[in-house]
Amino acid sequence: MNKDFSSGYKATRERENAQVSQILTWLSLAAMAFLVGIGFKAWFSGHTSHAFFLWAFTLPVLINMGLFAWKQDLSLQKTGLLVTISLLFTYLIASGGESNTGPLWLYVFPPLLFFLTNLKTGTMILLLVYLVAIVVFQFPGLPFVLADYNRDFKIRFFATLSLESVFCFILEANRLKARNQLLDLARTHEHAARTDELTGLANRRDILSRLSEEFSRYKRLGHHFSIVLIDLDLFKNINDVHGHDAGDAALKQFARLTQRLIRNTDVAARWGGEEFLLMLPDTSLISALTLAERLRTEVAAANFTFNNQRLSLTISAGVCSVAQASSIDGMLRQADMQLYCAKESGRNRIVPRVRNNQQAFADATA
Ligand code: GH3
Ligand code: MG
Ligand code: MG
Repeated sequence: MNKDFSSGYKATRERENAQVSQILTWLSLAAMAFLVGIGFKAWFSGHTSHAFFLWAFTLPVLINMGLFAWKQDLSLQKTGLLVTISLLFTYLIASGGESNTGPLWLYVFPPLLFFLTNLKTGTMILLLVYLVAIVVFQFPGLPFVLADYNRDFKIRFFATLSLESVFCFILEANRLKARNQLLDLARTHEHAARTDELTGLANRRDILSRLSEEFSRYKRLGHHFSIVLIDLDLFKNINDVHGHDAGDAALKQFARLTQRLIRNTDVAARWGGEEFLLMLPDTSLISALTLAERLRTEVAAANFTFNNQRLSLTISAGVCSVAQASSIDGMLRQADMQLYCAKESGRNRIVPRVRNNQQAFADATA
């Protein structure tokens, strides 16, 4: 019933993405350090062309980091890194690196791959890398293949890499399952923490946080909003005459009726007991009064029932727009004052005029 509970879930995903991109940045830096370091080692061992190749690979890694700093696009960052690493590993298998040890770097690939992509894409890319390795191993005469590996090495390499890949796949699948379960749990808890159990409306805590967001929006952009504080009239009588369950049923039916009347962007909350609060974004005082009046007449005319007994219900309400107060507390105080006046002047009404109400309130409490 309550609208938009995805904000916390979205925040969790955003936090997760920020962490992943931070890891990728560190990973890129580490990769560059390795490429430069091993490049120097190759240089001093006399493998100058290999050294140049390794150093050349730092360039796409650096460009990818720069692109991410500019665009802040995580999937672009992942794809860039993946393409660079795939090319690097293809080069290492084909060239053999130093003393035919290049393929050993491929053991880094499966965990990295599953971290950078999902299981399906990861598996596809891994199969592609296997294909490249098979071509290189089987056809050492091809022009781009410089290395010739012995038979035992090839068999052991495939066996160990396959074992590692399967293990990484299983671990990643389990990690994803646990992560999704945790996210679901977080979503359920967040929903429960923000929802009134009986009516399914927002609870006091949720509407207070939404009011504070709306108030900031008003301060920043000048978007007006209004609130309506509603109290069900003589509700105690319903409990006394028909029982507590009937009272609960009336609260639920009232909540349903209210939800039907308000707009998608409005928020209805159970403020406590038999009091409800509506937050109406982009709504003037007059429009809020009109809505409150419409709700009042519909409630008075509605056929609330419990076990085939008719429950007659009316409401009183206080309305306040943000233009009339300098804070949320101020708005709530004014709405409460108006509600008090509505009760004082006979219930089943919305008393519209602010200044008169304040006077009446002052008189009543004098
Ligand atoms: P008034 O018009 O002055 O508001 O009279 P009232 O009887 O509505 O106000 P009062 O504060 O005297 O009583 C409120 C009643 O609402 C008493 C309380 O038991 C009942 N109530 C509050 N929460 C619930 C609830 O969750 N379920 C039920 N059934 N009753 C509730
Ligand atoms: Mg009350
Ligand atoms: Mg009441």
